[in-house]
Amino acid sequence: MNSASATGDLSPDEFRTAAHAAVDWIADYLESSGEYPVRSRVAPGDVRAALPSVPPQHGESLDSMLRDFHGTIMPGITHWNHPAFFAYFANSASYPGILGELLTAGLNANGMLWVTSPAVTELEEVTLDWLRQLMGLGEGWFGQITDTASISTFYALAAARERAGLDIRTKGMAARPDVPRLRVYCSEHAHSSIDKAVIALGLGHENLVKIPADEQFRLLPDAFAAAIAADAAAGYIPLAVVPCVGTTSTTSIDPVVDVVRIARQYGCWVHVDAAYGGVAAIVPELQYLMDGVDGADSLVVNPHKWLFTPMDCSVFYTRDARALKQAFTLLPEYLVTSTSTEATNLMDYGIQLGRRFRALKLWMVLRAFGRDGLAERIRFHCELAREFAGMVHFEGGWELTAPVTLSLVCFRRAPEGANEEAIARLNAAIMERVNARGRVYLSHTKLASRYTLRLAIGNIRTDREHIELAWRELREAAQFVETSGERRE
Ligand SMILES: *Cc1c(COP(=O)(O)O)cnc(C)c1O
Repeated sequence: MNSASATGDLSPDEFRTAAHAAVDWIADYLESSGEYPVRSRVAPGDVRAALPSVPPQHGESLDSMLRDFHGTIMPGITHWNHPAFFAYFANSASYPGILGELLTAGLNANGMLWVTSPAVTELEEVTLDWLRQLMGLGEGWFGQITDTASISTFYALAAARERAGLDIRTKGMAARPDVPRLRVYCSEHAHSSIDKAVIALGLGHENLVKIPADEQFRLLPDAFAAAIAADAAAGYIPLAVVPCVGTTSTTSIDPVVDVVRIARQYGCWVHVDAAYGGVAAIVPELQYLMDGVDGADSLVVNPHKWLFTPMDCSVFYTRDARALKQAFTLLPEYLVTSTSTEATNLMDYGIQLGRRFRALKLWMVLRAFGRDGLAERIRFHCELAREFAGMVHFEGGWELTAPVTLSLVCFRRAPEGANEEAIARLNAAIMERVNARGRVYLSHTKLASRYTLRLAIGNIRTDREHIELAWRELREAAQFVETSGERRE
């Protein structure tokens, strides 16, 4: 038994001591996160095998848990807070965000209804309205926080399905000859979360129409216009289109203005997926990222990606809160309150009833940095990306594989005369060597079947030295892989 208190919980003093120590540890960790191997070195099953497979019979001491945390859990952590984490889309937990998360855990408020914690709902409303203003969007957007962009996009398509007026909410779609095919459009470079939403909503994966992109990986408006016209002529219903502002592979930016203009002719819902790139509109010279978005029906941005807010925090905005509410609202008697009609109950706008107080951490991040502080960090990341792109561009035997629009660089080693297959093998080997060395961490993608490395800058602690380190590691790895390949031959 680890506690003298009657509840079996820690005593307040035990908690105080342990929590102070944990906060000290977090501060040390974040100061020295660059000293860990970025990508965890454990093999599948290692962590599980090091942990007891049966639960403890008696309560254990905090000390023994923390020993396991440091000895067993930490080696199995890939350090997203490492300043040389450049894989996927790099993110980071800033100190104000971590404090917000800590206070949220302490309060443990559930904002399912307005009355079950008025501040949870109202701070969410205020914070998301601030974020809307920071991104330069007009008024009239309803916002709510979700866990991930995948859920935000699911909500967008659910609202679009509701607005189509087929009463699918009541009657479903099965055994209904009066429901034609419902079509959703996105570019061939769109994120798989759109596929998942289409699948989960019962629309059928084959009704997600992938529109070709131009040589800069942007959805071709003419191809979209042709696809939607052909579908309408065939009697299908164009339900929604999902242009992307900052695609996952290359951060290309689809022409939202054109997509909105075309979609409007068919009453087709426009959902803008700006999960990664959207928050960059806070930077005045990147305001163009929101061009056309005020004409869309919904938008997702992820503060947990590039806005220094800890996982998880995605923001879903819609101009048609009515459709969203119609898709999801239900009011069982046990949830009726005297303020049911006058206050916003966020449970009415999605699947989940319970609601974590996520707004607090985002509010604290926005306050701690302010518009200027956020813009300065994001601008710096874009600058670092351009510098890295310059290093690649001016080095023989390397090439850029996509335009650098934000803070992501797509590039690869491409020795003269090597064919695609050899280039793919070479770059996979280079990436594996760099990642195994553990000083930096990169990921890859394929662009029109061309194997490509990705360096994504988005961590608040990333500095010029980390970009230079990545470049050194990459060149050394290339040399190693190429010379050991020659020795084998
Ligand atoms: C990361 C990303 C997503 C998925 O985000 P989750 O929050 O992990 O669901 C969707 N779309 C784009 C463009 C992304 O970059």
